[in-house]
Amino acid sequence: MSTIRENLVHVMERIEKAARRVGRDPKEVKLVAVSKTVEVNRIKEAIAAGISILGENYVQEAKRKIEEIGRQVEWHFIGHLQTNKAKYAVRLFDMIHSVDSLSLAEELNRRAEKEGQVIKVMMEVNLSGERTKFGTEEEKAFELAKKIFELRNLSLVGLMTMPPYFDSPEASRPYFIKLRELKERLEKEGIPLKELSMGMSSDFEIAIEEGATYVRVGTAIFGPRSK
Ligand SMILES: *Cc1c(COP(=O)(O)O)cnc(C)c1O
Repeated sequence: MSTIRENLVHVMERIEKAARRVGRDPKEVKLVAVSKTVEVNRIKEAIAAGISILGENYVQEAKRKIEEIGRQVEWHFIGHLQTNKAKYAVRLFDMIHSVDSLSLAEELNRRAEKEGQVIKVMMEVNLSGERTKFGTEEEKAFELAKKIFELRNLSLVGLMTMPPYFDSPEASRPYFIKLRELKERLEKEGIPLKELSMGMSSDFEIAIEEGATYVRVGTAIFGPRSK
C-alpha cells in the first residue's frame, strides 16, 4: 500500500506535468487536500508531507479537527453549507468554495460583519443542470455574482464547479471550459476573479489544462473513503 507521502508526491508530479503541458506555471495551481471522513492522525501525516490547505465538507467534523490540528494550515469549506451554519463557517474557515445562493451569501456577510472580518468566498455554479447537485444555476450565476461582489464583508475571489461523475475524465472538460468562460464574462462586466476551483481526483489534470487555480483532491491523496 502506498503512503500518503508517496501519493502526494505523485499528485504533485501530475499537477506539474498538466500545468506544463499548457504552458502554465505549476505554482498557479494550489492543492486542496480533501479530508472529509479522514481521521486526524492521517491528516497530520499529510501536513507533515507538505499539505498546506485542507478541504472539509461538514462543519461539525471540521470543527473537531481544527480544534485538534490547529491553524498552521488553511481550512477551506467545500461542501454544501446550510444557512444556519454560516456563523460557525465564518469562524472556522479561511475560505468557502461553495456559496450558491443569495440568502447564504447575505447570512455569511452578516456574520462576518459581526466578527469584524472579511471572508473569502467562491460562488459554486451548477453547470450540468442536475437537480441533485448543489450550486447556482448557470442562468442565475451572473446576477448572483454581481450581488455577492457588492457584499462588503465577503470577498468574492472566484468560481467553483463540480461536474457530474463520468468514467472518462475527458468528459469533464466542457464543464471546466464553461466555468472559465463564465469567469471571463464576469471580468468583462467589472468583476475581477482570480480563482477557479475545479477538478477532483479523477479529473484534476483536465481542470488544470482548462485553468484551475485550486484543485480539490481527496482519494488520490488519502485513498478510498470508508463511507
Ligand atoms: C469529496 C469532494 C472532493 C474530492 O473528491 P475525490 O474524488 O476524493 O478527490 C472534491 N470536491 C468536493 C466538493 C467534494 O465533496
